[in-house]
Amino acid sequence: MPVVPFDQREGFIWMNGKLVDWQDAKLHVLSHGLHYASCVFEGERAYGGQIFKSTEHSERFRRSASLLDFEIPFSVAELDAAKQIVVDKNNLPDCYVRPVAWRGSEMMAVAAQNSTINVAIAVWPWPSMFDVNEKMKGIRVDIADYRRPDPLTAPSDAKAAGLYMICTISKHRAERRGYADAMMLDWQGRVAECTGANIFFIANGVLHTPIADCFLDGITRRTVIDLARRRGVEVVERRIMPEELAGFQECFICGTGAEVTPVSEIGPYKFTPGALSRSFVEDYSAEVKPRQKAA
Ligand code: PMP
Repeated sequence: MPVVPFDQREGFIWMNGKLVDWQDAKLHVLSHGLHYASCVFEGERAYGGQIFKSTEHSERFRRSASLLDFEIPFSVAELDAAKQIVVDKNNLPDCYVRPVAWRGSEMMAVAAQNSTINVAIAVWPWPSMFDVNEKMKGIRVDIADYRRPDPLTAPSDAKAAGLYMICTISKHRAERRGYADAMMLDWQGRVAECTGANIFFIANGVLHTPIADCFLDGITRRTVIDLARRRGVEVVERRIMPEELAGFQECFICGTGAEVTPVSEIGPYKFTPGALSRSFVEDYSAEVKPRQKAA
């Protein structure tokens, strides 16, 4: 099936407070967000018509903007309501949700103090892959050349468009080499995350994950930590050096898009997705199921 480009699809996009026809949701080529990466976004999923952890995503969205020195002109409650309208209006109960905010066209130089902040919300189908047996084969992951930046070099906990430049380069290189994704180290050479997901390792029934202080502390990551605690599985957040990967039996990545996806290989290191990874795939799938709304 040919893929319809994103600007040629049908439906409705919410833009600066109004629903517009999908193909009319346009911005000018001279937009600060495009030239200077003054742009932040979110990635969320709706399951059965309900957006998983919508409010946490709206809060992160506003926080990312403030780290880029701008304020999103809508409250968390307004954003939550708008996202729900877009999901409902497009009649896509199971979909990916993409809020995005960017500086507009009033000023086209590094300084853009007075530019308008634009906000849009789009949704599209993105099937979640909960065929556990398929997932248990694990994905193959490359090791990226680029590293996550030092927090003194960039606002590393913002979900900012500019921080994805090295992710796209790294993911392309990984795909050309036959891998599904790339694991990035941090600026000090420690394991950080993948190009669009966080990472967990398992050794002797204990989960190990890097401390999220110079990369995105994913909402899925925090959900997995919560699920582990509920299962009585110990979670150790610590510095992990790449050489230590030889000592782990299992590995999985997690994120809104990836959900929980076991890993079979990272560069020279091999893993065998096992019972504990399987339980996190299953627990996460149960966790995102829509809750019964109170009457
Ligand atoms: N790291 C990066 C670089 C990401 O793009 C994502 C996906 N948003 C994540 C981690 C996981 O974040 P979340 O669980 O909030 O989707």
